Amino acid sequence: MSAKYIFVTGGVVSSLGKGLAAASIGCLLESRGLKVNLMKFDPYLNVDPGTMSPFQHGEVFVTDDGAETDLDLGHYERFTHAKLSRDNNWTTGRIYEQIIAKERRGDYLGKTVQVIPHVTNEIKAAMKKVAQDVDVAIVEIGGTVGDIESLPFMEAIRQMRQELGRKNTLFMHVTLVPFIAAAQELKTKPTQHSVKELLSIGIQPDILLCRTDRFLSKDIKSKIALFCNVEEEAVITAKDVASIYEVPLVFSREGVDTLVLRYLHLEPKDRDLKDWEEIVHRVYNPKAEVTIGIVGKYVEYEDSYKSLKEALVHGALAHNLKLQVNWIEAEGLEAGERVCEEQLGDYDGLLVPGGFGKRGIEGMVHAIRYAREKKVPYFGICLGMQTACIEFARNVCGLADANSSEFDPATPHRVIYKLRELTGVEELGGTMRLGAWTCKIEPGTLAHRIYGQDEISERHRHRYEFNREYEETLTAAGLRISGSTPDGTYVEMIELPDHPHFIGCQFHPEFKSKPLEPHPLFKAFVGAAYERGIERRADRESAAVELFHRPVRLANS
Ligand code: GLN
Repeated sequence: MSAKYIFVTGGVVSSLGKGLAAASIGCLLESRGLKVNLMKFDPYLNVDPGTMSPFQHGEVFVTDDGAETDLDLGHYERFTHAKLSRDNNWTTGRIYEQIIAKERRGDYLGKTVQVIPHVTNEIKAAMKKVAQDVDVAIVEIGGTVGDIESLPFMEAIRQMRQELGRKNTLFMHVTLVPFIAAAQELKTKPTQHSVKELLSIGIQPDILLCRTDRFLSKDIKSKIALFCNVEEEAVITAKDVASIYEVPLVFSREGVDTLVLRYLHLEPKDRDLKDWEEIVHRVYNPKAEVTIGIVGKYVEYEDSYKSLKEALVHGALAHNLKLQVNWIEAEGLEAGERVCEEQLGDYDGLLVPGGFGKRGIEGMVHAIRYAREKKVPYFGICLGMQTACIEFARNVCGLADANSSEFDPATPHRVIYKLRELTGVEELGGTMRLGAWTCKIEPGTLAHRIYGQDEISERHRHRYEFNREYEETLTAAGLRISGSTPDGTYVEMIELPDHPHFIGCQFHPEFKSKPLEPHPLFKAFVGAAYERGIERRADRESAAVELFHRPVRLANS
């Protein structure tokens, strides 16, 4: 079966939600019974985002095969059933790495190696590889039209149209139609310019997804259609929405999927979006609220924990709750107990997410102590499991300086230390334990009750691990190891049986959570937090009632 291609480009400004648009189109095509795959090309020179700062790049999304990829792949997986791997995300750096390796091997037989055809051929080959066994491959080109570095990708998709024809390729351009307050008008000029830029490199868009904060009137649509040379019905209002999960519904109301099917000569099947409608209904009709505090660094930049935030939303939706998340800067908790009391007292649940480096660790340890002692539901992910072990070793087992060798290489108690097989490997790129690993869950544990399974598979991204030399000391004091690799080498999950909900995992469950399939660990954590919230509010109310009924003592009595 030869796949059809949808190429998604962006114009005017970045951050218009191209990734979400691509994911939503994938979702809509699946709702029409088609099989899709999605891929992203990032024009930057880094080989992958693995070594980039979360401030620069946002989250690094990890696939089952251990690729460190762009966060848009997270959207693709959350919105569709596509199974993504390292083949689904390419950067200029990785394309060139391949070409240079080939050149060194002499594969080009003495020819001059050039952007056209060698770089473009490499790009096209990567596209064709993921398009096998699917009806439609959706290809997102990162950056905005006009960027120098995205030119080879634009040229490659232009050639794809040339090779495969109109029936098999479709150009979708995401652009901005801003409302200018001073003129009280929507402006189409930026879109016209962006399309002109695309035309100058030989690409005529078929569909325009116009990002805007209000519906585009018929007049505006026909104006854009006229100037940009597209059908009027191909000018789509991509209106801002409060929940990303509404985007497929907005697009379906605008008829995008019907148009795509027509342009690509695909058989229309009835659309089935019932599950998405139900999710969106829940988003806007919660029965109550749950408040989660996330203690970490990089808190000021939400994109660095994209999947985490979404997984919490999924966990909340599973209980029909509205999620209230607050990010708490870990460094601010270093003063200890009193600050924790002040800053953490109002949360129903606390979470320490993954992270790297020393900054904020002591604050996380204080927060975890607070959660453990006050019986606040706690969920520690990767670094959050490691810091939970450090806290337990220090404050329960009395190993005062216990630490991870990542933060204190000279610590006398390396409760967390470097993965033994990697000891001696110091480069940053590609030296981590990455991707899917099987974990055996101990029967009779909270983890087992939550998963309802003996074996699970979850994705990893870490260098350090629990040091089994401390297993006896910690477990004797009440910590339970609830999950390990089947050969027993790596500790994957810990919990505290004498706590209502205290779980740590070495892996990143957030990467596998979807709105329609909320991850069991997030669902359980949010559920436990909600229960505690109810108890906490009830306690507060009865304390207030007590205060109200207390007899007032008269002066001198
Ligand atoms: N820094 C820790 C490690 O490398 C935790 C990593 C993480 O949280 N992703 O093991």
